[in-house]
Amino acid sequence: ETIGANLERTVARFGDNDALVECATGRRWTYAEFDAAVNEVARGLLGLGVAKGDRLGIWAPNRAEWTLVQYATAKIGVILVNINPSYRSHELRYALNQSGCSTVISAAGFKDADYRAMLTEVGPDCPALSRIIYLGEQTWQDLIAAGADQPETAIAEALAGLTPDEPINIQYTSGTTGYPKGATLSHRNILNNGYQVTETIGFTDADRLVIPVPFYHCFGMVMGNLGCTTHGATMIIPSEGFAPDAALSAVQAERATALYGVPTMFIAELDHPDFADYDLSTLRTGIMAGSNCPIEVMKRCMNDMSMREVSIAYGMTETSPVSLQTLRDDDVERRTATVGRVHSHVEVKITDATGATAPRGEPGELCTKGYSVMLGYWNEPEKTTAAIDADGWMHTGDLGVMRADGYVNIVGRIKDMVIRGGENVYPREVEEFLYTHPDISDAQVVGVPDPKYGEELCVWIKLRAGAEPIDADALKSFCSGQLARYKIPRYVIITDDFPMTVTGKIRKVQMREESISRLG
Ligand code: ATP
Ligand code: MG
Repeated sequence: ETIGANLERTVARFGDNDALVECATGRRWTYAEFDAAVNEVARGLLGLGVAKGDRLGIWAPNRAEWTLVQYATAKIGVILVNINPSYRSHELRYALNQSGCSTVISAAGFKDADYRAMLTEVGPDCPALSRIIYLGEQTWQDLIAAGADQPETAIAEALAGLTPDEPINIQYTSGTTGYPKGATLSHRNILNNGYQVTETIGFTDADRLVIPVPFYHCFGMVMGNLGCTTHGATMIIPSEGFAPDAALSAVQAERATALYGVPTMFIAELDHPDFADYDLSTLRTGIMAGSNCPIEVMKRCMNDMSMREVSIAYGMTETSPVSLQTLRDDDVERRTATVGRVHSHVEVKITDATGATAPRGEPGELCTKGYSVMLGYWNEPEKTTAAIDADGWMHTGDLGVMRADGYVNIVGRIKDMVIRGGENVYPREVEEFLYTHPDISDAQVVGVPDPKYGEELCVWIKLRAGAEPIDADALKSFCSGQLARYKIPRYVIITDDFPMTVTGKIRKVQMREESISRLG
């Protein structure tokens, strides 16, 4: 099935359900209204001559129109190119040219960034780019108007010409470890993954999901939007960019049953000074994903946010994204300390250095195979071949451990592992221990070069409000007897913020460089 056909099926079943709510403006659409609005945009695109296979970039924060454009392009086979809201001119130019976008839909600006100025600057360098449309402006009205004389049957005809294995979306990876790569995804890839993700947490048409994660990323547009529309559930946009109070008040105002977020978002919500004032009792579930999900934070979500069935998902853009997830009825240990078990219709294996399957309990590279593996990196065949082997296994670059019970632990990225004096240290393990310190709100560990040991551990610590700073000696006494000596960080940097991607991932590569320069 294609994404457009699936949406129409949902509309036929749940036409009167809320499809989309935009809290900042109070706008809301039932599924019938949503579909009509999607069709209006799709007809407009056809009217402008945007055709199947063309690339259309979307560079905008989380607004309702982002979602309309997502489904409008899917209905007519236009390949949506998600452009990261935090990109600036250089990255924008790269993404537009790398994907060959002919059209961009954008906003005049977002936060302190002037998108219009950047698009004006970059436009002349993008030979394929012929049209820029700004949300809420005349160019958007013109888009809608262009559809007016399209025949009633235009959408149905376009939809009938699509097949599920065609590319429909290019998503640039977060760029946590280097230059973002354009994962090219089909209807089959992302529609099925969106469905499986919310099926796993038991979504029905009665569920109402608050989505504070960016739509440009698979967490927002696949696990969020497609996760809802495949089930007739409601997509709730709390704010254009993440704000903890907006997310909390959206839960309360919309009586949400589910909330998504990367770990840092949940931490910001839980530690918000007004946290106790919000009524979150309607929450049942939600998903934490994107990077290491600390056990303590998971427990606080369960106990303090009413998310009894909160789930952890593991995935990557290249695999649509999710391949492992905890289940609805998992016990607390599995729910908080693992990333769950393999999704339906997907295979997962852990390989040792020789490429053979590692024994259970031993760390190795996690590999994924199945319907969810991307078609490839857009226009980068060598990178595709390097990532997906001849048997179809996607090599994730993450270290995992398959437990005896089939549940998987993510130990970290292969690139983030620290080797100190010949001992492998997985930053995650040290971070998990530090989260148990009452004054530590968040801790991130990186390796820095050391003449004696090869590498030494450096920890960046965010303190809880009002806590006294912690120095290396205090940290040492806290860890002594609890952690092996080689795992105790030698350097401590107290910080208010970590270098992060807009998807809420910690940029450890950048942290490592900054640590080196700060420590001299
Ligand atoms: P890039 O590939 O450009 O460096 P990225 O890998 O961060 O960026 P994404 O595809 O957004 O881009 O993120 C996928 C990665 O996020 C995974 O490979 C893994 O390292 C991490 N990740 C996702 N979910 C989890 C999780 N539940 N626990 C630990 N790590 C996770
Ligand atoms: Mg990656």
